[in-house]
Amino acid sequence: MKVPILLPNIFNHPFTYDSDLKLKIGDYVIVPFGKSNLMGVVWDEFEKKKDKDFLIKKVLRKLDIPFLNKNTIKFLNWFSEYNMIPKGMALKLLLLSNNVVEKFPIKTYEKFKIGIKKNKIELSKEQKNCLNKMNVSNHKFRVHVLQGTTGSGKTMVYFEALKKIINMGFQGLILLPEIGLTGQFQNKFIEFFGFKPAVWHSGVAKKNKEIIWSGIANDEIKVVIGARSSLFLPFKKLGLIIVDEEHDQSYKQDEGVIYNARDMAISRASFENIPINLITAVPSIETYDNIKKGKYSLSKLHQRYLNASLPNYEIINLNNSKLETQSWISKKTIEKVKFHLEKKDQVLFFLNRRGFSPHVLCKKCFTSYSCPNCSINLVYHKNKQNLLCHYCGYKALLIRDCLKDGKCDFIFSGPGVERISEEVKKNFPTKETTIFSSDTMNKKSSSEILERIINNEIQILIGTQLISKGFHFPSLNCIVVVDIDLSSQGHDLRGAEKNLQLYHQLSGRAGRTGKPATVYFQTYNLDTKMITDITNKDPDIFLDKELEIRRKNNLPPFQRFIALIITGGNESELEKEAYKFKVFIESAVEGRVLGPVNAPIFRLKRKFRVRLLIRGRKSLKVQNSLAKTIKKFKFPTGIKLTVDVDPINFN
Ligand SMILES: [Zn+2]
Ligand SMILES: [Zn+2]
Repeated sequence: MKVPILLPNIFNHPFTYDSDLKLKIGDYVIVPFGKSNLMGVVWDEFEKKKDKDFLIKKVLRKLDIPFLNKNTIKFLNWFSEYNMIPKGMALKLLLLSNNVVEKFPIKTYEKFKIGIKKNKIELSKEQKNCLNKMNVSNHKFRVHVLQGTTGSGKTMVYFEALKKIINMGFQGLILLPEIGLTGQFQNKFIEFFGFKPAVWHSGVAKKNKEIIWSGIANDEIKVVIGARSSLFLPFKKLGLIIVDEEHDQSYKQDEGVIYNARDMAISRASFENIPINLITAVPSIETYDNIKKGKYSLSKLHQRYLNASLPNYEIINLNNSKLETQSWISKKTIEKVKFHLEKKDQVLFFLNRRGFSPHVLCKKCFTSYSCPNCSINLVYHKNKQNLLCHYCGYKALLIRDCLKDGKCDFIFSGPGVERISEEVKKNFPTKETTIFSSDTMNKKSSSEILERIINNEIQILIGTQLISKGFHFPSLNCIVVVDIDLSSQGHDLRGAEKNLQLYHQLSGRAGRTGKPATVYFQTYNLDTKMITDITNKDPDIFLDKELEIRRKNNLPPFQRFIALIITGGNESELEKEAYKFKVFIESAVEGRVLGPVNAPIFRLKRKFRVRLLIRGRKSLKVQNSLAKTIKKFKFPTGIKLTVDVDPINFN
């Protein structure tokens, strides 16, 4: 018999093979391809090519792995169409670097089943109400949103929902952003369920990945906690997906195969016909729109643990409380912080900038230190004693021959967390401080630092956005936002939404044990309306307003955006090709084509970058017509096109 086999490569269609074996859709097989043997899956449709006279090769062997569900295959087909990625590349996401594993001895999976002593946790009345609402229509596809401020106990509600599904014999998937930092979360899971979840992210060792992959395919492992890529595991009997922190923009995969894991989780649930729960303190604008339209059901938790209230907000006007030169913390702020420290409150200085200084230049020749590969300044990291490009990783030493004479004499303009840390130490020399950023916290020693922060042995933290991600610090009752940066508002259609999420998440870190807490915003901007807007205790007010702006201006979620990023080494050739490409696609595509314009980061990793934007209806037809047209256009070698459906970052 003839069978269609999809291979994990750049082809958008399966290849036809011959076989004497009894094969069905979803079976994993080994086939010859070119000079080598490859792993493939029996797909649900044949190659669309007219029957030419070509030699049909034979399937070599069927692998001993439970077949891939038809629904999962349908999902991957749709995924490839929606994100404009070849089907073979979609299949590749499901495999282990082009490979699969046959079953391990059964005892290999036992570590995920060992009963661990669990704690009895009683839900509050409000939590029980949410759980009941969440569990409606649990036997089919539906989307439920659980909204609740940080510290209101959302996790326990969805753990209960998951327990029910597991007890019915199904598997469950919990998607989390920032998976590297889930130590606290895993312990919570074990305490509740009494067994170990399988944890899946890019940093997991190869052998463990193999065990988890086959445990999922064979239904020997029941629950996965994972980052984006866990969405593509070959679940045998998936019964529920949970997307925690659904608003988090790190669900968007921005490199390689570009997709949004939250949105793809919803469509996988739809193809598998199973329920999905989205969990958040402040829903993303897309989710909020779907709640308003009645497409998603909603439950809300209002009470915080121990009845803690959300922090108060205070604005420190830097026009009145002037900063001294080379200083970024005002006298008034210092007084406020002293007041909190005396009450044994922990204090956080927040600045979303790693390193010491984002702009280094020479006093004599005025030349800045910029990246030779990217059109961006290098950031000075004093602790590492070098300059770093945060985009391509380029490193340089702080020593340079001057255009005038001798060596350059540098000045540093603007602060990063390291510089704020120096100023904090000067003002509070007797206090323990630490920097909380990806430079300091992604190391082995970080769990020890976390422990010391939780025990209030470290009184002052200086942190980047990393700290807004789900940490629970009981003594943190004072947050100083060093420089509230609302400047991105102009270029980024999501700027306002991003700020709302950031400051909401950030203030959720404070006041979690019932003591009064305050967030101080240092700013020169006298128009404080923006700050009041994003810190309003009822985020729905802001979301309603934002949704109205989007509607009026025909922006997502009311229209579909598709970004086309064209890159090349030769600036003038790139520009010419981009215009040619625009003219070529304009008449064929269902939607308006804007651009080309130079990308905000015009040069990145030695390549120039130009962007086009397609604005169209929310229909797969837009992607389909675009995919067809792109296929017909030939870029010269050295020029590359990247397609980003529903872009979040516009840099
Ligand atoms: Zn660079
Ligand atoms: Zn110089």
